[in-house]
Amino acid sequence: MKNYKIAVLKGDGIGPEIVDEAIKVLDAVASKEGFNLEYNEYLIGGSAIDVFDNPCPDETIKGCLNSDAVLFGAIGGPKWDNVEKQKRPESGLLKLRKSLGLFANIRPAIIFDELVNASTLKPEVIKGVDLTVVRELTGGIYFGEPRYKDDNKAYNTMIYTRDEIERIAKVAFEEAMRRNKKVTSVDKANVLEVSELWREVVEEVAKNYPEVELEHMYVDNAAMQLVRNPKQFDVILTGNIFGDILSDEASMIVGSIGLLPSASIGGKVGLFEPIHGSAPDIAGQGIANPIATILSAAMMLDYLGEKAAGDKIRDAIKQVLAKGYRTKDLASFDAKEVVTTTEMGSLIAEH
Ligand code: ATP
Ligand code: MG
Repeated sequence: MKNYKIAVLKGDGIGPEIVDEAIKVLDAVASKEGFNLEYNEYLIGGSAIDVFDNPCPDETIKGCLNSDAVLFGAIGGPKWDNVEKQKRPESGLLKLRKSLGLFANIRPAIIFDELVNASTLKPEVIKGVDLTVVRELTGGIYFGEPRYKDDNKAYNTMIYTRDEIERIAKVAFEEAMRRNKKVTSVDKANVLEVSELWREVVEEVAKNYPEVELEHMYVDNAAMQLVRNPKQFDVILTGNIFGDILSDEASMIVGSIGLLPSASIGGKVGLFEPIHGSAPDIAGQGIANPIATILSAAMMLDYLGEKAAGDKIRDAIKQVLAKGYRTKDLASFDAKEVVTTTEMGSLIAEH
């Protein structure tokens, strides 16, 4: 029987609650599909600070590198707000991404027909949306040097090298080949030199994918088009800061932050996590929506080559939503029964 080693990083807040439900669902589908998942837990974020005084201990990085994939919950919370900057839970995740070489963040906006009313957009605008944002994750203005601040002046630097653009563009085109064969590259080439290079390199990479349609869009226009007519998009390819903003915007058209998964890839081992944070305000109450994490687990199975199993999970979620089961965040959208975090996980596992 095939065996996959999964590093499990539950983290803080609702992290442990939602990851436990994802594991429940993974186990159910693994036994049906005839493969085995071996889990090893490591500490990250605040819970690692409490034990090791370090938000990303070496043991955690080693454990991830020795695995086939990483399943991640969420990190952070008010308990660690006063910790010095380099030791905050969030810096643990940045260090982990860097250490694993995860330069590509993939965020599909998955629309469930059963939940079109949960969107902030009109049902006719939202129904049938099928897009994914491919965001560069380890470069651009968030990491560029020099950076500086004094009382009168401050600056950051937006840098991209040809290699960095090339590798993220490839991820986007590969994603488009598996999807609907269109890439919208988002930049600000009318103002920024770094965007001019971005465009040139993306054009070059596109030559290797003649089946994929490529268009370029300025980021301000893209922000508008996303809420005006999201159906026009298939794959949105963009840099770190623009992707940060656009992927949060794309998440809101879906309905609840508790529904959206993500994959971070590019290095030796992929990392899969919900897009939301540790939600300390609702931790321990059994009301967190585990679907974003369960969908992230499904993306993990796709990545491991178990696409049929990933599809089974997505189908099961649809069935459970179609029957009217909702966690509290979605209670006002055609709910027949409001269920807890663990009940939702069990329902999806059963289905
Ligand atoms: P981070 O900085 O880690 O992204 P954040 O400050 O953006 O965190 P989140 O932790 O994502 O905040 O929470 C934002 C809001 O969404 C909170 O009110 C939280 O309760 C809610 N929320 C987040 N995740 C879920 C979930 N899975 N189910 C229900 N509500 C959620
Ligand atoms: Mg956030």
